[in-house]
Amino acid sequence: MTDLDLPLGLGTSGNDDHEECAATVAEALELGYRHVDTAQMYDNEAAVGEGLERAFSDPDVDVEREDVVVATKVHPDNLAPDDVRETTEASLDRLGLDYVDLLYVHWPTSAYEPEATLPAFDDLAEDGLTRYVGVSNFTPTLLREAREILDTPIAAHQVECHPLFQQDDLRALAADDGHHLIGYSPLGQGDVLDNDVLVDVAERNDATPAQVALAWELARGVTPIPKGTGEHVAENYEAVDLDLPESDLKAIDEIGAEERLVDPDAAAWNQ
Ligand code: NAP
Repeated sequence: MTDLDLPLGLGTSGNDDHEECAATVAEALELGYRHVDTAQMYDNEAAVGEGLERAFSDPDVDVEREDVVVATKVHPDNLAPDDVRETTEASLDRLGLDYVDLLYVHWPTSAYEPEATLPAFDDLAEDGLTRYVGVSNFTPTLLREAREILDTPIAAHQVECHPLFQQDDLRALAADDGHHLIGYSPLGQGDVLDNDVLVDVAERNDATPAQVALAWELARGVTPIPKGTGEHVAENYEAVDLDLPESDLKAIDEIGAEERLVDPDAAAWNQ
């Protein structure tokens, strides 16, 4: 395992209203979030950067650049080596940062060619433009191949993960390989909120179904990155202090659904 600490993060996909996104990021840092997830594809890196800067320059908010894991992802169309560098520099410009903490291959599609793409990520790590390298939406086979090519250890694998799509195999692989598993769409894009098991567990623990889904994921060693706006941002962060009893964790483990939301064939173009 690398020494990168990856606490519950703020997802930002779909938050492309500049002011709302900047305000949400700034508020999240004030609440205690220390991990923010964006991507070239989300068209909001400038807004995320503005939110970060607002928090860093606010004397009432006790947070500095080094305290926050800022993650972005290189668009699948930009995975040829020259484009990896050029577009990462453009991402940093938009974010207003000298480096990101985690730079992901967003999807292993389009211009992804492992032998060409991955050494370009190594170079960026070597040159300090990113502290760590991550991959997203990889299969175990693609993950193994990437590990063999990269000099830099893979710090994180980001995949869809929530109570209705639990990813036990990738979680076991992450534990064996020593990388973080980051769970995207941890609320099932809203689908988990009215699940009977989650609603029951929430009632028993004086929590909301969203908090239960996030606390369950944290208890399984997965880092959730819920996207939220307004009061959801604070509600979701409270999940870090929610300790669910083993019997409730087990009840969620046993839901047994396989409801994948993000179609791996179509998703590269719309997530
Ligand atoms: P999600 O986080 O599971 O769900 C987001 C939805 O849930 C939004 O509609 C949000 O509404 C709502 N919500 C948030 N907190 C809530 C709460 N406490 N109660 C009720 N509703 C709540 O889905 P996601 O946005 O797909 O995934 C999260 C993040 O993962 C993304 O933002 C992105 O950063 C990342 N992601 C990565 C990939 C990838 O390919 N690597 C793919 C998908 C997503 P409001 O906005 O109104 O709060």
